[in-house]
Amino acid sequence: MICRKCGKSMTINFAWEQNDEERPHYSHEDEWICSCGFSMPCRRYSDWFGGDDLHKEVANYLEGLDEQPLRILYSGFMVCVIFPQEVAVFGYDGSEYCHSFYFTNEEPEIQPFLAQLLGFDTLALKDGEPNS
Ligand SMILES: [Zn+2]
Repeated sequence: MICRKCGKSMTINFAWEQNDEERPHYSHEDEWICSCGFSMPCRRYSDWFGGDDLHKEVANYLEGLDEQPLRILYSGFMVCVIFPQEVAVFGYDGSEYCHSFYFTNEEPEIQPFLAQLLGFDTLALKDGEPNS
């Protein structure tokens, strides 16, 4: 992981004691740390079935898209990527399973006023206009 502040390589500060012979034991409290003082949560995980790095998974996911997300929200090893018309949720639940969900604006008529005001359901509104 490259430091966003200074561009140097960061190292993982493990919350659990590590054994050099074994593969790393990750936890929710692991952090990427840099000599410049910058730190951020580490989202690498592993269990009996394998492991990955949620930051990498997000980067791979965004790479294939034309649209930039409005927000990227994290909770542990799960991420929620928010677009004006869609939300993607994926990651590792912390106990064996990886999940991925994809939500779309299937019922535009029930969207809150604020979403309409910001134009997040413009397409849907156009479709819904009578006699247009
Ligand atoms: Zn740094």
